[in-house]
Amino acid sequence: MSNAPQKRPSELRRDIKRRGMLFVLSSPSGAGKSTISLRLLQDDDDVVLSVSVTTRPPRPGEVDGKDYHFIDIPRFEEMKAANDLLEHARVFDNYYGTPKGPVNDQLTSGKDVLFDIDWQGTQQVEAQAASDLVRVFILPPSLRELERRLKSRAQDSDEVVAGRMAKASDEMSHCAEYDYVVINDDLEETLASVKAILTAERLRRQRQPGINDFVSALRSEATAHSNG
Ligand code: 5GP
Repeated sequence: MSNAPQKRPSELRRDIKRRGMLFVLSSPSGAGKSTISLRLLQDDDDVVLSVSVTTRPPRPGEVDGKDYHFIDIPRFEEMKAANDLLEHARVFDNYYGTPKGPVNDQLTSGKDVLFDIDWQGTQQVEAQAASDLVRVFILPPSLRELERRLKSRAQDSDEVVAGRMAKASDEMSHCAEYDYVVINDDLEETLASVKAILTAERLRRQRQPGINDFVSALRSEATAHSNG
């Protein structure tokens, strides 16, 4: 038996460290996922973005190192061969991947890591870290609205928009592989739903490693109390 004085529940409560999660948002391109990600990051300091590598060229306004790490194909192949990618996929003729290192660092510091990745990447992450993974699929309210949003972005050519529309059905066929599905009709409502998912998932018992000590301390107090 240790002679160390037992901590009181109030002290232990402060010590309940949370285990971070891998929070994946997927959707057909144009369903509003990037805006939702941005707002989540702005509103919640405990959420950090996993910045992917991609071989596609930057869109106007995109910043290297913030939106993506823009790399060429040989560098992508190098990272893949060195096992530096947690997952990778080819999407719309470009390659995308998640660098492993930053994800591990952020998880151990108790942050939730937000991933804006497609269904292929999500399946690979699940194979490696299922218990830490929370998957959310964002759907557009209609195909017409999806097209309107893609066109109003005015960053991609008509050809690229047509390609993304053609791919939407394929993306949506993977919706059933996700834990949560949110229809993005109204941005604020969708954001509230996504935040509610995050809050509930943070309260899962296995994500609060110190909870058992806290309960033991509460029960010790209860015993002391009933013994007079
Ligand atoms: P965009 O080129 O519009 O930024 O992204 C195109 C698609 O690639 C989106 O569905 C996005 O979620 C996906 N994507 C972006 N980064 C990654 C990644 O690192 N891995 C995978 N698997 N998909 C990604």
